[in-house]
Amino acid sequence: MAKEIEQRFPYPVVVDNDVNAAAVGESWIGAATEQKSFVLMALGTGVGGAVVVDGALIHGHQGGEGDLSHLIIIPGGAACNCGQKGCLEQYASGTALNRHAREIASDWDSRRLVEASMLGDAQARKVIDRFVANLAVGLINVQRMLDPDLIVLGGGLIEARNSGWDALLQAVTVHTNLKLCLQPALLGNRAGIIGAARLAMLADKMQ
Ligand SMILES: [Zn+2]
Repeated sequence: MAKEIEQRFPYPVVVDNDVNAAAVGESWIGAATEQKSFVLMALGTGVGGAVVVDGALIHGHQGGEGDLSHLIIIPGGAACNCGQKGCLEQYASGTALNRHAREIASDWDSRRLVEASMLGDAQARKVIDRFVANLAVGLINVQRMLDPDLIVLGGGLIEARNSGWDALLQAVTVHTNLKLCLQPALLGNRAGIIGAARLAMLADKMQ
């Protein structure tokens, strides 16, 4: 696609996905300016991932490196649209949280679930605890596999995290002795566009 566009415009063109661009943004002026190797996990409607090693985005053999959403965390679990069962995305995304909320009451959504949990509703608390535990297991697997200096967590769920951040750090310690360095993303929903600008700047320098 980049070559096609370059033939029509007198500028270098870079094409990448939104999470990779967000990782470049966080690396440039966000949460990961000090780290050469880090992972960005974006928790929104789905789960997105980007892997940066020694300052470079890793795109992988099938362009799937960093596609953390389809790590299997519950064998035989919920069916995923990738064809597997039990993928992280089915347990640690906004879509998953909405689904869990509807399992308690058909008119609940994730916001209502979180509110009920914070007000001490035992059933809601249990669902949130399970959500956080599943996310923690996903993060531990990422740390084990890639051993990054840092995992940056971004996306809509993190921006609305309220008291969930401390619960997540706590859940990680329940499941591992491994030291994880976790930081919330700093650039919010501007990370992608800032990173895209940075990618274009870097491409221009290479010309
Ligand atoms: Zn999947």
